Amino acid sequence: MDSYDYVIVGAGVNGTSIATSLASHGFRVAVLDRSADGFVAPDGASHDLNKIVRADYTDANFCTLAKEAIARWRSSPVLRQFYHEVGVLFRSSASGDVWGNEGSAEEYVHKGIKHAALESDAHLEVFPAQEKARAYKLKNDTQVDEILGKARELKGDGFKGMGRVQTGYFNPRAGWAEANNATRALLGHAIKLGVTVYPDSSVDSFVYEAGEVVGVKTADGRVVRGDNVVLAAGAWTQELLTTLLPGVGEGWMTRPSAQCVAVVRLTREEAMQLGDTPVVINFATGFYQFEPTPTASPDEWHMKIAIHSNGYLHPAPQSSCSGTFPAFSCTDSTEQDAFGMAACSMPANQLEIMLEELRQTWPHLAQRERLVCTRVCWYSDTLDENWIFDSLANHPARPKGTDKVWVVSGDSGHAFKFLPIIGDVFLAAKRLLPNTRQLDLTRFTFNHHARTHADKNAGRAVQSADSNRAHSTPLANARARL
Ligand SMILES: Cc1cc2nc3c(=O)[nH]c(=O)nc-3n(C[C@H](O)[C@H](O)[C@H](O)COP(=O)(O)OP(=O)(O)OC[C@H]3O[C@@H](n4cnc5c(N)ncnc54)[C@H](O)[C@@H]3O)c2cc1C
Repeated sequence: MDSYDYVIVGAGVNGTSIATSLASHGFRVAVLDRSADGFVAPDGASHDLNKIVRADYTDANFCTLAKEAIARWRSSPVLRQFYHEVGVLFRSSASGDVWGNEGSAEEYVHKGIKHAALESDAHLEVFPAQEKARAYKLKNDTQVDEILGKARELKGDGFKGMGRVQTGYFNPRAGWAEANNATRALLGHAIKLGVTVYPDSSVDSFVYEAGEVVGVKTADGRVVRGDNVVLAAGAWTQELLTTLLPGVGEGWMTRPSAQCVAVVRLTREEAMQLGDTPVVINFATGFYQFEPTPTASPDEWHMKIAIHSNGYLHPAPQSSCSGTFPAFSCTDSTEQDAFGMAACSMPANQLEIMLEELRQTWPHLAQRERLVCTRVCWYSDTLDENWIFDSLANHPARPKGTDKVWVVSGDSGHAFKFLPIIGDVFLAAKRLLPNTRQLDLTRFTFNHHARTHADKNAGRAVQSADSNRAHSTPLANARARL
């Protein structure tokens, strides 16, 4: 029977990064995933074309951590080829507000610029960052034209009116990463460091000895033993915990929220015109888009567009891994969200909403005929967008025998950018490494998350890690960043 120091369930950003850090410190590590090849599953959040990488959080903890992550994206021999520092352009659109009653667009811009350039983080700005401007406010359309370069000829009204009908800022020290490619490459690297990957391994029970968890068992009966178990199952965390330990996963800890993504097709010529354009975020609506990315066919390029929102309870993640992901679907349901944020079912006209947003930036691309696919992708949400990194021994239900079982989850839609560093955060939380970054690790504990729900239930304000969505009046899109 196979036995390891650490058995990790889930090969997304969290599982992959933790496996890499543990292996590089000499631990024997196994990663199990329900996917056919053992790498992140096609319906996993980390399995995607691209994800935004930025460090201008409103929260200093994440700000510093993201700057260090970016330094590693720039310099890592494994990851740097997947990082594209084209900048991120934030625009308010004419509607002005960010999260309704939580502050004005001007405040949002001011804070974003300030946090992008905290003096205390200056030592993290490694080459080539020093050659680039720091984040700056967009005061007129000439600045936008300079950023867009040759693509400015194609721009729509959404890029216009800076400093007059809308506000915004540009952070050149940010960009995007090739999500699936980078996650797979890092796990490939971890395998070279000695990590064993178990494909087609859907974990559905713990293995106990003398009342202690000593490993996991897959649905087809295989057992993998480990001195420690790490559950890094992304949006499946709640369901997995409920299966493993009835009563522990339910209710307050994390819950999946379905998010909407679409991909549109461009020709090579069209893609060349839009190449190197920044990620663009409309922070009033949560809509964002990337520059085009190549496909296996030299004549076809793809552009991902998406809406970052409070999300939807339906469709929910499926426990079986079909090798693909669901398209948008509008399901009838009256289920209530225990977090009080996600809507029950997504709007039937979701694609039209997204194409209308795209029309504001690149009008020539906003055509149904260009659609390659729509996709639902799930965040694992906590109430305040802080993650969970804690031992089940600290869970309020005190499940027996689980001292050496850790839950790493609650990504809340913003963990991808931390791929190069999240494993080290785990090692710090587990006290295998000193907390040299002076991170506030208490916010990642079960205690913290239980308290946020107690506060919410008692009508007290919940301070969110970034968007302040938890105590805003429920809005269709109360989130602002990812
Ligand atoms: C639409 C969308 C856009 C996003 N955009 C950004 C962005 O721009 N920037 C950013 O920083 N972040 C972004 N995120 C968030 C980011 O993708 C996530 O934070 C991150 O990918 C979560 O990683 P994970 O490892 O927790 O989960 P996942 O990547 O979902 O991986 C979980 C893995 O666990 C496996 N698993 C589950 N249950 C079991 C089981 N029982 N047995 C075995 N294996 C199991 C699954 O198969 C899966 O491979 C976005 C997320 C979404 C959905």
